[in-house]
Amino acid sequence: MRKDTILAHSGRAKERPGPINVPVYRASTVAFESVEATERATRSRFDGLYYGRFGTPTTFALEETVARLEGGYRAIAVSSGLAAITATMTAFAKSGDHILVPDSVYGPVRHLCDTVLDGLGITTTYYDPLIGARIEELFRPNTRLLYMESPGSLTFEVQDVPALLAVAREHGIATAIDNTWATPYYFAAVAAGVDVSVHSGTKYIGGHSDLLLGMIVTNEAVYEKVRSTVVALGFSIAADDAYLALRGLRTLAVRLERHNASGLAVARWLAGRPEVARVLHPALPSNPGHEFWKRDFSGASGLFSFVLKPDFTDESVRAFIDGLELFSIGYSWGGYESLALLAHVERLRTATKWSEPGAVIRLHIGLEDPQDLIADLEAGFGRLRPRA
Ligand SMILES: *Cc1c(COP(=O)(O)O)cnc(C)c1O
Repeated sequence: MRKDTILAHSGRAKERPGPINVPVYRASTVAFESVEATERATRSRFDGLYYGRFGTPTTFALEETVARLEGGYRAIAVSSGLAAITATMTAFAKSGDHILVPDSVYGPVRHLCDTVLDGLGITTTYYDPLIGARIEELFRPNTRLLYMESPGSLTFEVQDVPALLAVAREHGIATAIDNTWATPYYFAAVAAGVDVSVHSGTKYIGGHSDLLLGMIVTNEAVYEKVRSTVVALGFSIAADDAYLALRGLRTLAVRLERHNASGLAVARWLAGRPEVARVLHPALPSNPGHEFWKRDFSGASGLFSFVLKPDFTDESVRAFIDGLELFSIGYSWGGYESLALLAHVERLRTATKWSEPGAVIRLHIGLEDPQDLIADLEAGFGRLRPRA
């Protein structure tokens, strides 16, 4: 089955006559027919219907669909993208171990590494996301996980995933990637050889800004290790959110197609503006790692940034954003609506230096007509004022 057919057919209710969709199964207790059946289920407690925390048929339908889309062995749904990352990192790294994390990583992951993981005795080295095969120089005898995020948060550096995988494999180091931006639809990371692909399902998988969700997709070799960590940590997901996420997933392909086209239209228009220093969009040749995006990805989603020239007052940059009518100001992204955010990249770099002097504005291009969005941004440029 090709991806669009998986999206339409996977995880549907099988009973006939019966509804198309698997219903919302709200459950804590799952009742068994006998003591013997209870004990059998207990012995295989990482699998199947056993207790609400480990999922219900609603969760299983979502997990099956995401796993197939990404070319993975299995997928595990948890309560948030950050929970998916926490489970993945703690599955591979124990006290005394070392992990590698890109300098462009999603900010809260840096916080996780520097506080909780550090407190558990797990050391993090941040690396230049464009380091490629030279990552080998950072491997230590106790390195257990090479973590990637491609493209990077806020600045969109695209990583050379095959080059990183090749050296990690040579050294027996596990690999994981935050694949939220591309979704399994535009980059099937597990099929490409990454051990674990994590997603903030909060973004495009849910797609409507009304739920929090994390998805962990793994290959067969590491599934048990990751699953047992999720079980031990007690991470779970509400059946209503699993249902909504699966409902969002049905239209992932058609939504992404529009995010892709409109995002590019706005990005190209911005690149031609005299106030703009750079546009950071993986599908534009000027983006760091663009050649890897072109080789590995089958599309671009609607999230990118642009850097203003350093010629404008801070107040007028804020007025540019505050006055936008079609862009809401807020965190997260991946819904049907457009968003704008003033990013502070320099606060989030330790291994590399962010040297762009101008303001960085991150945009999520939603499903509105791109000409309306461009007109809104054009009015925003009219609010910029030169520094004295
Ligand atoms: C939002 C986001 C996360 C965290 O997801 P939550 O569902 O909000 O916990 C992780 N990685 C990336 C790249 C994100 O954008």
